[in-house]
Amino acid sequence: MSNKDQIQRFMFENLGARGQLVGLNDSFREATANHEYPATIQQLLGEFMTAATLLSTTIKFKGSLTLQAQGDGDLSLIMAECRHDQDVRGIARWEGEGEPENTGFQALLGNGRMAVTITPDKGQRYQGIVALEGDSLAACIENYFEQSEQLQTRVWLTTEPGFCASGLLIQVLPQEQGAVEDADGWSRICQLSDTLSNKELTTLSNDDILHRLYHEEMVRVFPASDVQFKCTCSAYRTLEAIVSMGKDEIQEIFTEQPQITVRCEFCNAGYEVTQADIDQHLSDTDEASSSQTLH
Ligand SMILES: [Zn+2]
Repeated sequence: MSNKDQIQRFMFENLGARGQLVGLNDSFREATANHEYPATIQQLLGEFMTAATLLSTTIKFKGSLTLQAQGDGDLSLIMAECRHDQDVRGIARWEGEGEPENTGFQALLGNGRMAVTITPDKGQRYQGIVALEGDSLAACIENYFEQSEQLQTRVWLTTEPGFCASGLLIQVLPQEQGAVEDADGWSRICQLSDTLSNKELTTLSNDDILHRLYHEEMVRVFPASDVQFKCTCSAYRTLEAIVSMGKDEIQEIFTEQPQITVRCEFCNAGYEVTQADIDQHLSDTDEASSSQTLH
C-alpha cells in the first residue's frame, strides 16, 4: 500500500456495494514507538488501528469512533480511536513478560467483549457491543455490522509489526441490499477479495490492488484522504480529569506531594499539575459558565 498513511474509498457502480482501503505507516510506527509491545500484541494493535480508521468513515459529524476490547486473557485491554478527520491513536495493556504464550485473537483476550463507541464532540454517545466470537478482529467487525446494521460486510486486516498495518473493507450499501440486479455480484467481489494476500495488501499501491482484484468490475475511486497519528490529550483535559476526582481526593494527594504528574498513555506527553493550576482552572470554568448565562 505504498508508504503513505491514507484511506481510499471506492464504489462498485452496478453492485450496490462500497469499499475502503487503509494503509498506516508513520501513524502506526508513531503510535507504537513509546511502548515495548510484544510483536503479537503490536500486530493486533495495528489491526485495531486499521479497523478504527475503516469504521471512522461512518461518522457523519465531528467526533470520534473507538474500538475497544476487554477480556480476561493476557491482553486485558486493547483499543484504537479514530476521529472524523482520521486522526488515529491506539493502546494495549497486557500482563506478563515477553511474547504471550497463546497468540490467537481469542486466546489473547479470553472471555470478553468488544465495544464500538461513537462519540460526537457535541451530543449523545452511541455504543454497540459485540461478543468476541470468531478468531479474528476482522470476524468480530463483520459480526458487528451484521448484528447492529444488518449490513453484509467483509474485512481483511494485516500488520507487519514495527512497520505498517493495512486493511480492506467491502460492504453492501444499506438501501441496495437484495435490490441489485446482479445477484451474484456480492459473492463475486468477496471471492475476488479473498484472493488478495497479506503481502499484496501491505506492499501494493491502492491502484494496483483495485486493478489486481476488480479489473472486470465497474469501480469508481474517490480521492484518498490522509490519516495521521494524533493524540487528543491536553493540559485542559488533564485538569478536567483531575477535577472530576472530587475535592477530597485531590486535597489528599496534595498533602502528600506538591504536584500531580500525569503521563498520557497514548503519546507519552507529561503534564504536571499543581494546586494553583486546579484553582485557576476552576475559576476559569466558573467564569466561562457565568458569562454564558449572562449573554
Ligand atoms: Zn496524548
